[in-house]
Amino acid sequence: MLPTDLAQRHEAIQTALAAASGGLYAPPQLIAVTKTHPAEDILPLTALGVTDIGENRVQEIVEKWPEIGKKFRIHQIGRLQTNKVKYIIDKVCLIQSLDRMNLALEIDRQAQKLGVCMPVLIQVSPAGEEQKGGMPPQAVRDFLQEVRHMAGLRVKGLMAIMPNTPDEAYLGGLFADMRTLFEQLREEAIDGVAMEELSMGMSGDYLLAARHGATMVRVGSALMGARG
Ligand SMILES: *Cc1c(COP(=O)(O)O)cnc(C)c1O
Repeated sequence: MLPTDLAQRHEAIQTALAAASGGLYAPPQLIAVTKTHPAEDILPLTALGVTDIGENRVQEIVEKWPEIGKKFRIHQIGRLQTNKVKYIIDKVCLIQSLDRMNLALEIDRQAQKLGVCMPVLIQVSPAGEEQKGGMPPQAVRDFLQEVRHMAGLRVKGLMAIMPNTPDEAYLGGLFADMRTLFEQLREEAIDGVAMEELSMGMSGDYLLAARHGATMVRVGSALMGARG
């Protein structure tokens, strides 16, 4: 892949994002999803001003870390096995996929061992697709009450993976539901919980997500090209 293609795709995505949010919301931050791409494909992103990348496999983060670790802020965006937390706790800036109590307990434990506090997003499943991870929207409040006092993690907002469908009306409704939940929780100002980030939207639907108030979009193939 030619870096000029990468630059053009990056420019097109940023321009579209700025237009899509239409003044109603600030344009979301672009998280470049670099999973399955080797470090040599990822490093040119620095020249484009990309600071934050998303990876979904612990093994890959560990393997690519020597080359990319000091150059980017890495977001853990995929399903995270509890027994792998210890390998990434010192390598990622945000775990976006917290969706169950035993994972919260392990993040808390490993972070406290290192003397750090790990920022996390609660992964919500707005369409009830449990295979993609995430908890039902109506479970989020109780979960926040249970994790808000943990010294090793700090909730920064919500994340969602949407169903893979071209039905924009249906998707738009789900994005709107996520934004509503996000704003409600923000207004509730729960002690120990920050509601700053709403991570939703991928290559197929990031503009729709931006229109509905995503603060972060996670874009892989539309930016990096197809691979793996
Ligand atoms: C792979 C992935 C993305 C990016 O997907 P694309 O469709 O390639 O943009 C976003 N979020 C998560 C959780 C992913 O696993």
